[in-house]
Amino acid sequence: MDIVQKVEEIIRRLKKLYPDPKLELEYENEFQLLVMAIMAAQDSDKKINRVAKELFKTVDGPQKILELSFDGLAQKISSVRWYRQKTNKILECCKILIEEFDGKVPDDVELLVKLPGVGRKTAHMVVGGAFKKPALITDRHFIRVANRLGLTKETKPEKVEKDLAKKIPPKYWLDLSLLLINHGKNICLARKPLCEKCPLDDLCDYYQQNVKPARDNIPISS
Ligand code: SF4
Repeated sequence: MDIVQKVEEIIRRLKKLYPDPKLELEYENEFQLLVMAIMAAQDSDKKINRVAKELFKTVDGPQKILELSFDGLAQKISSVRWYRQKTNKILECCKILIEEFDGKVPDDVELLVKLPGVGRKTAHMVVGGAFKKPALITDRHFIRVANRLGLTKETKPEKVEKDLAKKIPPKYWLDLSLLLINHGKNICLARKPLCEKCPLDDLCDYYQQNVKPARDNIPISS
């Protein structure tokens, strides 16, 4: 089985487990997702959902965020980690959206990464999550599960993206991203993967090399 066939099979099996995989961030449009993704760096998606829900009650676009100015926005997102730095990034980002993109969020990774606070992972998240375009969302769950499955040996987000983009056709990227992220949060956990519940054990390098040999050697108790 080559890597593309393996990815097809992983997607096929995981879709049964997660029929409607989504990002954990709860957004209504691409602008909300962009702002939330900037806030979510080094913080939890659950908290960002709470903060964003309040923020977007009164703010519906980049102009409204700019009208809040630093103090107004900082106060609204003050429970977010590094909120001062993130406030500056969001304000700068909104300014550029208005000046260079007619107030709209671009749907292109190479344009998005030019915005303050937007790295390649965030750009892919916006392009995939909001625009449903091919995206490799290399968050820590994706990277861990992709490594265990043997899809890549790279561990740095940009290198993982580059490696997988070479090997896997774009039509699979978004499904694979969302499914592996969901799987990493639910079954292929960081500390102790729940392999006994996983439908991918026969496709998984980690399982074959680490879990199966240990299981096969367990003496049968009398
Ligand atoms: S078999 Fe275990 S390590 Fe492999 S993907 Fe499944 S849960 Fe993760």
